[in-house]
Amino acid sequence: MAAVGIGAARRTLAGGERRELCFIHTHTGEHLTALYYDAGAYCQAALARVNELLRDFRTETVFPIDPQALDRLYALQVVTGRREPFEIISGYRSPVTNAALRRNSHGVAEHSLHMQGRAIDARLQGYPTSQLAALARAQMSGGTGFYRVSDFIHVDTGAVRIWGDPI
Ligand SMILES: [Zn+2]
Repeated sequence: MAAVGIGAARRTLAGGERRELCFIHTHTGEHLTALYYDAGAYCQAALARVNELLRDFRTETVFPIDPQALDRLYALQVVTGRREPFEIISGYRSPVTNAALRRNSHGVAEHSLHMQGRAIDARLQGYPTSQLAALARAQMSGGTGFYRVSDFIHVDTGAVRIWGDPI
């Protein structure tokens, strides 16, 4: 954890700042840069584009993503000082997709917050995912999972929980 202090991960976002996120979806290859918060308010047009990118690509279902899940990623971007995109593994999951994934994986929860648009699985391009996981856990905000082999973190806006591989 060289230049990045864990304590800094708990910093709260300032209301006046512009929050922009860049995404590349690992399954669809789609890119998006979205200024989703500006002048003290969430930008609905930008959120709509984010919802589209983070749709259930298996069923092509678009669902509103909780902006606070985006804030978790944005706070991680700030504390890492990186400008590279987040590589998205999973955003919204329809109940059909979640059930299908559950049949093939032990790591998928029956009542996953992905089905409420409140969870995102991602990695930060070019940044060690274990360090990203440590910072996400230190946010003490929502749930944080770390999947070392698959190389991603799960962040959500539910209760504070920590699970997954050791860092
Ligand atoms: Zn997840």
